[in-house]
Amino acid sequence: MHKGIAVSPGVAVGTAYCIREIFVNPDTKRLESDEITRELEQYEAARDKAVAELRVMAQKVSEQVGNDAGQIFAVHESMLRDPAFTRRIRGWIVDERLTASAALHRLLEEFSALFARTRDEYLGERIADLRDVVTRLSYHLSDVLKPASTALPGPLIVIAEELLPSQAVALGNVDVRGIVNQGGSQTSHAAIIARGRGIPAVCGVDGILQYIKTGDSVIVDGRDGLVLVNPAPETASAYRKLEREFFHLKDQLAENRDHPALTLDGEPVELLANINGIADAQAAHAMGATGIGLFRTEYLYLTHPTVPGEEEQLSIYRDIIEQSPKHQVTIRTLDIGGDKTVPYLGHTHQEANPFLGWRSIRLSFEHPQFFNTQLRAVLRAAARAEQLGGQVRLMFPMITNVEEMVRVKKMVHRVAAQLSREGQEFANVPLGMMLEVPAAAVMIRTLLRIVDFVSIGSNDLVQYLMAADRDNPKVSHLCQPLAPAVLRTLRHVIRACNKAQKPLTLCGEMAGQPRAFVLLLGMGLRSFSMSPSFIPSIKELAAHVSTADAAEILRLALRIPQTQRVQEFMGVQLRRLAPNLALLDTG
Ligand code: PEP
Ligand code: MG
Repeated sequence: MHKGIAVSPGVAVGTAYCIREIFVNPDTKRLESDEITRELEQYEAARDKAVAELRVMAQKVSEQVGNDAGQIFAVHESMLRDPAFTRRIRGWIVDERLTASAALHRLLEEFSALFARTRDEYLGERIADLRDVVTRLSYHLSDVLKPASTALPGPLIVIAEELLPSQAVALGNVDVRGIVNQGGSQTSHAAIIARGRGIPAVCGVDGILQYIKTGDSVIVDGRDGLVLVNPAPETASAYRKLEREFFHLKDQLAENRDHPALTLDGEPVELLANINGIADAQAAHAMGATGIGLFRTEYLYLTHPTVPGEEEQLSIYRDIIEQSPKHQVTIRTLDIGGDKTVPYLGHTHQEANPFLGWRSIRLSFEHPQFFNTQLRAVLRAAARAEQLGGQVRLMFPMITNVEEMVRVKKMVHRVAAQLSREGQEFANVPLGMMLEVPAAAVMIRTLLRIVDFVSIGSNDLVQYLMAADRDNPKVSHLCQPLAPAVLRTLRHVIRACNKAQKPLTLCGEMAGQPRAFVLLLGMGLRSFSMSPSFIPSIKELAAHVSTADAAEILRLALRIPQTQRVQEFMGVQLRRLAPNLALLDTG
């Protein structure tokens, strides 16, 4: 049994598929003479599949995100079709009798060594493309997709060092029931993807790829962050029963889609969606979200070779708005830096402390042209929302002090004046701040005088308050939303906003975590924005808790000085309030 961080609830039983096994344990087998032709054929078949897949992806991404973004996958396709690429792989298979997987591994090693010496940023970026291409090919070469894959029994549990976004897309057609990640934590890519798809997942399981191989039987317990390898038959059968209950529960909850979200005593709560793009906006609609609480626009930039232009942004924002007519759509300006870098915005050197450095609004201020382009596109899109009976709100990430908020408001006003002079159609929008820096929490009362609304970014607020990196599993015991210091800070902010009667939402991951939800409700929060897949279960949970219950539970929780004990206390409370939801709790 291995312990990691529970990042997506539920339980799953299946067969291990180790996605990056090839990189951890490169294949050392040498081919026999009569195996070479077959290996070449398998390589070519895998390559053709990958090429076809990339072509579809390039088109899909072009339609959904924009042509330039689609280009990334078109470039991957052309790398694969490059005769020099294939010549090298074929050469190693034929002359050195390497398996195709081993040949790919060698290619990647050689290029990594070569690029490691270059200071050319563009070339450095290409190694990431090559890694993605090689990973995709390895995936097609692996047992799971060969005709013999029928030998792999049942549904799959994907075990990866760190699941890449494109791997997740490639897994779309396979019956994946669970995800286990060697690295990462609550807010890593794999965690966000797993939650988005409602798949139980555990991250940060140290060294797990050494203990599991493709074909092993595996249990993922996304409630307690456990991974069980080759369990005893009785354990497996007990978990299978739980898994059936999990599916049943999800189906049942999905039926509540059109019911209003109310607490046990009839108090309405707002359940909004966090989205990264148009596909999530569709999921939000399907799950019954009553608006978009956070649109993370950096995805537009991350998948783009240059800064996306005003018209391109406008068209994406309009698409999102049209998915949620009559609703509020809160667009957050570019939040880049920290762990997400885009070289064309000047990320040329590695900062010593990127999360404390040049990120988010700090970076936007230094690129007024790019920033203004985004502001223009948002204000213009806002006019479309008004026509549809909805509203756009504009929100700024990582606001640290009053000066920044004043400065950003001036910039928006200037952009609005410019649009008006040009005779462009646009709308004025509420301007809000994300509260994710402790300094802003301390100054909340003053900031409330100059903002139209507040959204708490608890993922960052927790990491900054606890001085514990949100993506580092080694300190995840500290980076905890239920830490007493975090709870007190949140209570302070929620009280201040409610007193000032300013709209307040919380859009960090904790909004969708049952234990945290009850405490936030107790603090007086009534608007929550989360990954769309959590909306049905949080709606169900709300129906089991009265506001008075929540306030009493909060009072008791605040008397507990240790995080772990708050966790345990909340686990007990949840089982008491909504025993039917125990499967959806993450401990
Ligand atoms: C947050 O920090 O809580 C948040 C919602 O923003 P992100 O996760 O994109 O940093
Ligand atoms: Mg944040």
